[in-house]
Amino acid sequence: MATEVRPRDPSMRPPMVPLATLIGRELRGGKSEKPAIKYGHAAFAKRGEDYFLVRPDCLRVPGDAASSFSVFAIFDGHNGVSAAVFAKEHLLEHVMSAIPQGIGREEWLEALPRALVAGFVKTDIDFQRKGETSGTTATLVVVDGWTVTVASVGDSRCILDSQDGVVSLLTVDHRLEENVEERERVTASGGEVGRLNICGGKEVGPLRCWPGGLCLSRSIGDTDVGEFIVPIPHVKQVKLSSVGGRLIIASDGIWDALSSELAAKACRGIPAELAAKLVVKEALRTSGLKDDTTCLVVDIIPSDHTLPLPSPVKQQNKFRSLFGKKPQNAAGKPNKLSSVGAVEELFEEGSAMLEERLGKSFSSRENTGLLRCAICQTDQVPDDDLFVNSGDLFSPPSKQQEGPYLCVDCRRKKDAMEGKRPSDSSMSR
Ligand SMILES: [Zn+2]
Repeated sequence: MATEVRPRDPSMRPPMVPLATLIGRELRGGKSEKPAIKYGHAAFAKRGEDYFLVRPDCLRVPGDAASSFSVFAIFDGHNGVSAAVFAKEHLLEHVMSAIPQGIGREEWLEALPRALVAGFVKTDIDFQRKGETSGTTATLVVVDGWTVTVASVGDSRCILDSQDGVVSLLTVDHRLEENVEERERVTASGGEVGRLNICGGKEVGPLRCWPGGLCLSRSIGDTDVGEFIVPIPHVKQVKLSSVGGRLIIASDGIWDALSSELAAKACRGIPAELAAKLVVKEALRTSGLKDDTTCLVVDIIPSDHTLPLPSPVKQQNKFRSLFGKKPQNAAGKPNKLSSVGAVEELFEEGSAMLEERLGKSFSSRENTGLLRCAICQTDQVPDDDLFVNSGDLFSPPSKQQEGPYLCVDCRRKKDAMEGKRPSDSSMSR
């Protein structure tokens, strides 16, 4: 019982213990308590090209259970399944290997957006070397405490339903039809954007890029489509308040049938395991089975929600959110950090330019004299044919010093994505 551990008369306890506890609580603000993660998955296959990944117990520090974090991902493949399978098997590992070793949690979270970019690009390069032609969307979600980091290429959305009933999109749809910026980027990098021509010159369907005819502007794989279809993810990092929230990650089979609000509404108040099934069911009911339909629901909730008797404070929050009222903090000030249910935005970047995404902090290798490639993480001797093979017409050597260090192969990939050299994945090892 709560009353047994917290006697009402402070004079009954040794003075240091309650003070330390009080200060500790004050400093933590209830936020360092790790939330509970509950998740559910549901899918309905039509072509069998959707894959998903659930890793609830990853460790930042090997052997340290306190450093755990969770990963959820969806891969919606097209023109075959090999890219989706490959991304499911390798993407997470490539992201993690791009995070410097031995850093603390805050630094780790700060390094994550860059590591996600490096991991997505490395996965794409490695897959293209296999010479297969399929492609896949990839939406990878890392949940560490109350911090949620989402990286995505393609159109497998991740939405956040925060406890105050506000639904927000954590991804960007990389669809040519809906994304003017991406159309401009593809065109500037040498692709053509237009609709499918059927006989008689009539244009049908959504905007696609040519060659290849893909509706997406970013993906992993798609070796045959053109390097302007880049694997550089949009990354968004947010910190939930200590009342938590719900993530819904799903392939376009869901989002073509349901808006973000409808998907959130379809399962609000239902446990995650059942919620995912309800979202899929609602999408099928609305549109029928037109496409592979995959849904992950992830609840990030205060761990004491699992106790039979919630504390009065939590109970109050719960009722407030049930009635849909926006609670005010004690001082009545618009303080984002302390207001219940508010989501703090930590990071967002969607640029397709690698020098804007990778920074310089990965480039120096202390004590070794080696330079580490910011994408594939291989160490190289600095003057080891740095500019040979790639320092010709396309990439003047001066460029190397401006951005992050890239090895010859990764720099060739970067130039190809930016339309500065023809796609040459077939030339790679
Ligand atoms: Zn490299």
